[in-house]
Amino acid sequence: MKKLTLSVAALTIAMLSVNYKLSAQTQCKEMTKDNIQCKNITKKANSLCHNHDKNHKIKSDSKTVICSGTTKKNTKCRRKTKHSSGKCHNHRK
Ligand SMILES: [Zn+2]
Ligand SMILES: [Zn+2]
Repeated sequence: MKKLTLSVAALTIAMLSVNYKLSAQTQCKEMTKDNIQCKNITKKANSLCHNHDKNHKIKSDSKTVICSGTTKKNTKCRRKTKHSSGKCHNHRK
């Protein structure tokens, strides 16, 4: 009889740990551009996915973007830049 009790206890612990793993994943609490809740799943304590976590954004600031400056011909500059200002070296002051 003692053996059965032990296996039930082990099973309960196993189920609890599965529940814990599930609850550790939460839906992102931020809103998308369409004003609906973000459907990304996150494991972070702040309930923010990689799209909405500001800490993550700081890291991705270094990615290449198209320059937001305007050329002399009044067209959009097409140069790529990794600068945090979003402008190529021609358009930075
Ligand atoms: Zn999100
Ligand atoms: Zn430019």
